[in-house]
Amino acid sequence: MTTGAQITLFNSLGRALQPFTPIEPGHARVYSCGPTVYHYAHLGNLRAYVFTDTLRRVLDWKGYRVTHVINITDVGHLTSDADAGEDKMEKAAAGTGKDIWEVAAFYTDAFKTDLRQLNILDPSRWSIATDHIDDMLDFAKAIEANGAAYPLDTGLYFDVTKVPDYGALAGAPPQDDGGVARIAEVEGKRHPADFALWRNSPLGETRQMEWDSPWGRGAPGWHLECSVMSIKYLGAQFDIHTGGIDHREIHHPNEIAQNQAFTCTSATGANYWLHNNFLVDRGGKMSKSKGDISTLQSLIDRGVHPLAYRLLCLSAHYRSELEFSAEAVSGALTRLRRLAIAVQALVDRHGETHFPLDRERLEGDLPKAATDLLTQFDAAVSADLMTPQALPLLDQAIASKALSLEEKLRVIASMDRVLGLGILDLRRADLRVRPVDALITEAEIDARLAERKEARAAKDFARSDAIRDELAAQGVEVMDGDPLGWDWRVTL
Ligand SMILES: [Zn+2]
Repeated sequence: MTTGAQITLFNSLGRALQPFTPIEPGHARVYSCGPTVYHYAHLGNLRAYVFTDTLRRVLDWKGYRVTHVINITDVGHLTSDADAGEDKMEKAAAGTGKDIWEVAAFYTDAFKTDLRQLNILDPSRWSIATDHIDDMLDFAKAIEANGAAYPLDTGLYFDVTKVPDYGALAGAPPQDDGGVARIAEVEGKRHPADFALWRNSPLGETRQMEWDSPWGRGAPGWHLECSVMSIKYLGAQFDIHTGGIDHREIHHPNEIAQNQAFTCTSATGANYWLHNNFLVDRGGKMSKSKGDISTLQSLIDRGVHPLAYRLLCLSAHYRSELEFSAEAVSGALTRLRRLAIAVQALVDRHGETHFPLDRERLEGDLPKAATDLLTQFDAAVSADLMTPQALPLLDQAIASKALSLEEKLRVIASMDRVLGLGILDLRRADLRVRPVDALITEAEIDARLAERKEARAAKDFARSDAIRDELAAQGVEVMDGDPLGWDWRVTL
């Protein structure tokens, strides 16, 4: 049984908000483009998985059974999505002394560790590209047999003129000027937007990852794997396909074209194509200041709890750009600590953190003040996952004077199943904040602030200011008169 408001989702195909209706009632089938495992995931990449996790949690919370597939790209992805450049995996392995399979395994593990730290649920299936080479060969052969591909010396190429409405998802026909650059890469391509289904290894070169094919020894093109694995596990037409907005112009239109050529229909694969926007770094904070801050681990190393990054993502709508800055991260961390401390106080008074996962039992017999909050929460997350509007309702539940302790905690537990902050289990100690240089502990900060308070009480303002300046030098900003009652925060 699905409950509450009708879910609407912004479908990039058609660029419109649409009510979500799954093909099979009560069952949502979702495919998410996964990482290319040649490097640690960038924080911007991880935003895509917080988004898909939120989608999945909302569907689940509303009573849908969810089948979710995420792929691991360990072959075929070139340094340019437009079929140009070197193979990302081969390039990463070169000169490391590790073989490409070790590189892939290492960064796959690192990626999964990042997801765990962000409370991102495991998909129903991790689908690894190199486990599906035979499926990809069969798929490419079928496309060729259907007349939508042609062989060249360099591999097998998809003919984009053979499918209806190529590039409709991108919202514009393929750019000719971009195409000129692309066509120069491969002699014999018929259309600038044609792309490799199979890429032969360069003559005289042996790759670490290569397989025999009817077109020559080589490796599958990157776009092929997502068509093959989504159709294999979710069916020729399934419900939702997600990815970063950078996939809307090339990767996903190419997937759709492959799906159409494979099925000889105009079926697009997924009914809803959802794209999250970028994490933007206008201040250059992620790459320059005080070392590299571009991975989740680099934030953790600076004393930032990983769930602060999840909260930062939730505080913006997934289709909006999200500005990355020290202030934004610090603000999210402060907000997370405030939530954790408030909820921990409730839990300590009540003595219970474990509530039923079943919504009917969790929310049964709640008073109107509670169901009103949950109804508003439901309306927000059902409206194209409007998490920025849902978060303040969690604050309202915590602060509500109309609810008993038990009722508050049940509302919080229900909301957190969507938000995924693990808020009932977060402890102040988990959120202990270390300044960047790790020269000072939280206890030391508290002691210094107590001294400062004494100085102020004695009207020794010179001493009070001196303590403030010393703390600032250690990366701790003293916050006098903060409306939320915080007395200090860490500056990154
Ligand atoms: Zn993909």
